[in-house]
Amino acid sequence: MRLPCSPRRDEDRFATGLCKAVTYLKMISFQYKALPWNIIFGAGALSRLPEELGKLGYSRALVLSTPNQVGDGQGIVNLLGDKAVGLFDQAMMHVPVETVAQATAEVKRLEADCSVSIGGGSTTGLGKALAFNLGLPNIAIPTSYAGSEMTNIWGITENNRKITNRDNVVVPALTIYDPKLTLTMPAAFAGASGLNAMAQAVANLVSEDPNPIVSVMAQEAIRALSHSLPIVISNPDNMEARTEAMYGACLAGGALGTGTTGLHHRLCHTFGGAFNTPHAETHTILLPHSVAYNAAATPVGTGKIAEAMGVDDAATGIFELAKTIGVPTALKDIGVKRTDLDEAAAAATETPVNNPEPVTRGRVRALLENAYHGRAPQPV
Ligand code: NAD
Repeated sequence: MRLPCSPRRDEDRFATGLCKAVTYLKMISFQYKALPWNIIFGAGALSRLPEELGKLGYSRALVLSTPNQVGDGQGIVNLLGDKAVGLFDQAMMHVPVETVAQATAEVKRLEADCSVSIGGGSTTGLGKALAFNLGLPNIAIPTSYAGSEMTNIWGITENNRKITNRDNVVVPALTIYDPKLTLTMPAAFAGASGLNAMAQAVANLVSEDPNPIVSVMAQEAIRALSHSLPIVISNPDNMEARTEAMYGACLAGGALGTGTTGLHHRLCHTFGGAFNTPHAETHTILLPHSVAYNAAATPVGTGKIAEAMGVDDAATGIFELAKTIGVPTALKDIGVKRTDLDEAAAAATETPVNNPEPVTRGRVRALLENAYHGRAPQPV
């Protein structure tokens, strides 16, 4: 009997194709752990919140927002009617432990049985912290492209030090994506937030051992974000582009949630922690440089990124996209001093990091020099 992996005749193309597929599948080896996502996505989806809250069996929601989005928070309280017990409007960037303590007191005082976060990653982060500390289920209503609602990563900041870890208890019981809620995002923030999302997807295509299922999400996220973000910036009221960008952010968050991180995220956390640089902008500046750093070791991953973006070179394509959407491309433009670079390179390389290219202090310092000046990305 003839086996499909040993075709006798050249014209037997089916058998040859099958042979290739079998060989390819033999090379694939991976573990994939899904997260318990429960997602409703679509323009106008927010109106389903009261009904969906009831289906989950919750009836005493504490709504969370930043001071900046107190109006959105009040809107949710009004929408929920007697299913809302209060509004805590003090969510802050990087989830300070003091804020978590204040919100915890409100949960207990009001006997809340769930939280509803409306806002960006900071507000989602507070809902996650309450879920981690109290086991309080969280419903996330994202209004930026941070993607935190798709991950099991929680973080709390104490004494200027951010502790992060993974735990599935922080995955929202429900996430409602309503792209209409992103219409109020200022253009500068929308661009940076979108590239922050893209970094989550990119990191999972240029990782040491990309997971094939995560890669599918990541590549589609990059396609959607690179296509939609320039339109979101040039035509902020375009609902199709707003919808595609939010869809891309959802998938990018999914890639981060079920995937991994490498040198890029290490660098961003180093700058955020040591120099308090703005989260999304730090990502936008460093991303092209960390892709260039790993390019030689990740030809398949960078090829997939370039294909998704419709460009020849991944790092250059991301750099050009950042310029097109008008986000910062130089560390010197977000308050970093040149004298900070040595300290940052030392801190980022203090402990080992999983990364396709070996991470050395000298090469990281060279990467940072390029990023500081806003030069075009290049191998170092
Ligand atoms: P953010 O949540 O701090 O939002 C920035 C500001 O924009 C806030 O004042 C917010 O209220 C406002 N804003 C958000 N959406 C808006 C809208 N549609 N209209 C008007 N104003 C709006 O910033 P972010 O970039 O969304 O999130 C950053 C935080 O999320 C960081 O702390 C980061 O570490 C965290 N994060 C966590 C994960 C994770 O997996 N745990 C993933 C990504 C980001």
